[in-house]
Amino acid sequence: MKKEQRTEISSLGEFGLIDRLTKDISLKNTSSIKGIGDDAAIIQAEKRQVITTDILIEGIHFDLVYTPLKHLGYKSVIVNLSDVYAMNATPKQILVSIAISNRFSVEAIEEIYEGIELACNKYNVDLVGGDTTASPKGLVINVVAIGEQEKEKIVTRNTAKEGDLLCVSGDLGAAYMGLTILQREKQVFLNAPDANIELAGDNYIVGRQLKPEARKDIVDFFAEQQIVPTSMIDVSDGLSSEILHICKQSNVGCQLNEEAVPIASETYNKALEFGIDPINCALSGGEDYELLFTILPSDRSKVKQHPDISIIGEILDENLGVKLFTKGGNYHDIISLGWNSLKEGD
Ligand code: ADP
Ligand code: MG
Repeated sequence: MKKEQRTEISSLGEFGLIDRLTKDISLKNTSSIKGIGDDAAIIQAEKRQVITTDILIEGIHFDLVYTPLKHLGYKSVIVNLSDVYAMNATPKQILVSIAISNRFSVEAIEEIYEGIELACNKYNVDLVGGDTTASPKGLVINVVAIGEQEKEKIVTRNTAKEGDLLCVSGDLGAAYMGLTILQREKQVFLNAPDANIELAGDNYIVGRQLKPEARKDIVDFFAEQQIVPTSMIDVSDGLSSEILHICKQSNVGCQLNEEAVPIASETYNKALEFGIDPINCALSGGEDYELLFTILPSDRSKVKQHPDISIIGEILDENLGVKLFTKGGNYHDIISLGWNSLKEGD
């Protein structure tokens, strides 16, 4: 992937760099009135707007030893779009701010922007601005995403009701297992730089870590089927944590059925290989960027038509607590450990 040429950022200067990074950008959405090039962008929204931001810091959120720059750019957009979709809204614009050190060449930053533009084109989003600054050493990327939706169709976390069905898109825990493999291979590489890196058999789970997608298709499905979920959140910190957010903010309890939690066979087998209980990958793994939502029981048949949505539980009265009903027939309290917990033993 490495390009031959290395142009120093200092040779272009800040404005030259911004020009080079954004020269191919054209605006796709009618709500994007003015993009890059003025003091601020201009947006004419017809509906209610939702705005979100996420910051990614080298060494904390990503490791450039195993993260290609193009993937990093792509993922930095996706994590923000996922938050917009989690409001049942459609993302329209993003702003991207970067802090870069002279460790990076112009070509390296261009690779990040290739990924950013790929995501913008795939999800029909306009890059309308940002900021560029120097950093002493590490790379920082901050993305702001702006989306829109009719007032009545915006979905929040705090409106789940007793009797609602708990659903999730896709499968869970794969991104965490992908990260585990990448970290193991990094260790192998650091110990013996000539060793063969074995990732070939793990394409699915590694791909889920390095190149996640946002569930635009699920939000489109809701619109087609005239479903408005009663609450929704995206799965960025693991299923347990997200279920607790919905339950706490909605003042409800919940039963999650272990048997119904979707885990891909690749994830399942890799977890066992690493001595991790697969359900814990789903509960505490994170970075799946799937949508977790609740629906009215009357929407059950509509949701059941969709091959990539699983009904995984039911919303209960608050007094019944937030419980996992295990395959063995036991009830456990769902507690939020976060993905760090998986690293220590388990
Ligand atoms: P100002 O000094 O007024 O903040 P800048 O020189 O930072 O303006 O930015 C000039 C234009 O380029 C603005 O439209 C800004 O939004 C855009 N821009 C700056 N950095 C980036 C970036 N990293 N990605 C996308 N757009 C950028
Ligand atoms: Mg600026």
